[in-house]
Amino acid sequence: MEISTDVDFEIETRIKNELTECLAKINDGRKLITYELKRKYLLEKELYKICSHTFTRDPSAMSDDLYKWQCTKCNLYQGGH
Ligand SMILES: [Zn+2]
Repeated sequence: MEISTDVDFEIETRIKNELTECLAKINDGRKLITYELKRKYLLEKELYKICSHTFTRDPSAMSDDLYKWQCTKCNLYQGGH
């Protein structure tokens, strides 16, 4: 049974508006994450260049892991950048 009243319409409108706002925030969040990931990459790349690394084997690394050696100073992995 479908009853259409002014109250139903108001509720529906409120939910739709809230949903639009929610989706916009998700979109903003995704943009922010993409931006911060690029920034992180560039900062790590810059840090990797200037650090006088001291690499030690990462004990949690598996034999087939690409990056096994981690710097104790900058925490970056050898060959990661
Ligand atoms: Zn380092």
